[in-house]
Amino acid sequence: MPKEKGPEWQHVICVSDDSDDKPDNLPTIQCIYCDRKFVGGALRIRGHLIGDKKIGLKKCSKVPDIVASKFLEIESKRQEDQKKKQQLVKVVQQHSVYRARQGVFGRPMAIAAAKTMPGHKWWMSFGAQTPELQKIAVRVLSQVTSAGSCERNWSTFDFIHTKKRNRLACKTVEKIVNVHCNLQLVTKIEDINYIDEYIDWSSDADSDDNVD
Ligand SMILES: [Zn+2]
Repeated sequence: MPKEKGPEWQHVICVSDDSDDKPDNLPTIQCIYCDRKFVGGALRIRGHLIGDKKIGLKKCSKVPDIVASKFLEIESKRQEDQKKKQQLVKVVQQHSVYRARQGVFGRPMAIAAAKTMPGHKWWMSFGAQTPELQKIAVRVLSQVTSAGSCERNWSTFDFIHTKKRNRLACKTVEKIVNVHCNLQLVTKIEDINYIDEYIDWSSDADSDDNVD
């Protein structure tokens, strides 16, 4: 008998627990919908409930749609998790290639360029042999290292939360700052005479009103 039982086991009955003579110590189980008997674990039960084309396993003919769709969802999530794990392993392997300066990373050109080029541009030029690591490196290294936007934000907060007006609740301050910033934005847009481009409904040439 398996130690941990997942949701798959609610759809089968264990026919025999005598698993000594079975491969991998798996029990014989019976589907509660079509009464079919087979040897296996959770993976095999899922295979029976939703079918598995890779190993030529047909889907149970009597399983309710709601059960099948639930297990399809579980299976696709499992495959997605597996894909993520594989990608993570790839990134770790590629990082070791980078650290050991293998391939392009060891070329004198790449080493010389690293001293003068910005990090993200260097990775775009020389990181093609490690595509997964390149993607992460470009994303991380192209972030700006500036506190400017935070400073501007604090300055607005400082303007609203003053010595004389200091009993405001956190949410109230946030709302006032939001309104204040939006008003400033509107003023800026009005100052540069910005006009939103749009086509007037009445100027439609095909309209019946315009026919003389
Ligand atoms: Zn079945």
